[in-house]
Amino acid sequence: MSRPAKMLIDLDALTHNIAIARKQSPNSRIIAVLKANAYGHGAIEVANAIDPSVDMLAVSSIEEALHLRNAGIEKTVLLLEGCFSGSELVVASNNDFAVVFHNLEQVEALEQQALEQPISCWLKIDTGMHRLGLQGDDITAAFERLQASANSKNDLILMTHLASSDLIAQPFTTQQISSFVQAIAQLGERANGLQTSICNSGAVLGWQDIQCDWIRPGIMIYGVSPFAQEHKIAKDLKPVMCLQSEVIAVRTVPAGDCVGYGNTWQAERDSKVATVAIGYGDGYPRNAKNGTPVLVNGKRCKLAGRVSMDMLSVDVTEIGSVNIGDKVVLWGSGLDVNEVASYADTIGYELVTRMPLRVPKTYLGK
Ligand SMILES: *Cc1c(COP(=O)(O)O)cnc(C)c1O
Repeated sequence: MSRPAKMLIDLDALTHNIAIARKQSPNSRIIAVLKANAYGHGAIEVANAIDPSVDMLAVSSIEEALHLRNAGIEKTVLLLEGCFSGSELVVASNNDFAVVFHNLEQVEALEQQALEQPISCWLKIDTGMHRLGLQGDDITAAFERLQASANSKNDLILMTHLASSDLIAQPFTTQQISSFVQAIAQLGERANGLQTSICNSGAVLGWQDIQCDWIRPGIMIYGVSPFAQEHKIAKDLKPVMCLQSEVIAVRTVPAGDCVGYGNTWQAERDSKVATVAIGYGDGYPRNAKNGTPVLVNGKRCKLAGRVSMDMLSVDVTEIGSVNIGDKVVLWGSGLDVNEVASYADTIGYELVTRMPLRVPKTYLGK
């Protein structure tokens, strides 16, 4: 027997979700975004499971990329923030990592490094998110210098990132696309035929008109919707992570008594309260409010009182018999992580990504 807090990771759900991305963008190749340990799902296991269904992988750092390579994963890995030093460029070149260039300093480092193999270079253009990417005349300068460098392969790819593709009705995405088109036009004929990459999950699911050669879905492949509102395609995604545990105590709490640290939940009637072996030390958000949904024996119940480090309490007065050992789902199948996140003032992305190591993962499927 071991502590029952665990994550189930459904590898078949991953391929189901990638098939949705493929169907949405049949003419694009897929870069699966596996940064931050595959959004908390386990990068190596995820990479192995999706290997036949995607075209490339993307991460944020050379350490994350090497972690995949050292596990025998052979696909090209794209470094989304580029290299942080000239020596990383050598590692990238030796390991078939594709590299984003988002400022002139990175371009200069490429020019100055001695490399045995040229690198596949991705030029990132800032079209309005104002986080990373070249702007104005620097776009042309970076473009020309990358094209001229012997350290760059001849397959320069132009990319940008969307700030609000999760907001379907907002014109900002359209503005970003026109600014991308303009930036490419500014490069003139030299940019003819170059490939492009634009779409994150929100754009793949919500902005089907945006055409690009390479899509970069992240959160959707883990079965989490990028949208706050219900969405007709996102609702077909299957959650990959299921966070679950078990009831380890059941008690009666008389009307007027309180539960948990700080006495923040008070029983309005004589209540039955179950204690569950999972807490903020297991990645469950401490700021989840009273009333946050929790599934006990598959039935929706409400969080009662503050989340402790290793435990939380649930009001199970209305769901019939509840016993020690009964199954509890905190999010996953039957309970959308985005709904739980909304009770904790955050989004599903954060909850799945920040899962701590102490919660073991069990991989299912494949
Ligand atoms: C994280 C990331 C993505 C994936 O975004 P999702 O919203 O998870 O689909 C795509 N592109 C870049 C540059 C990213 O940093």
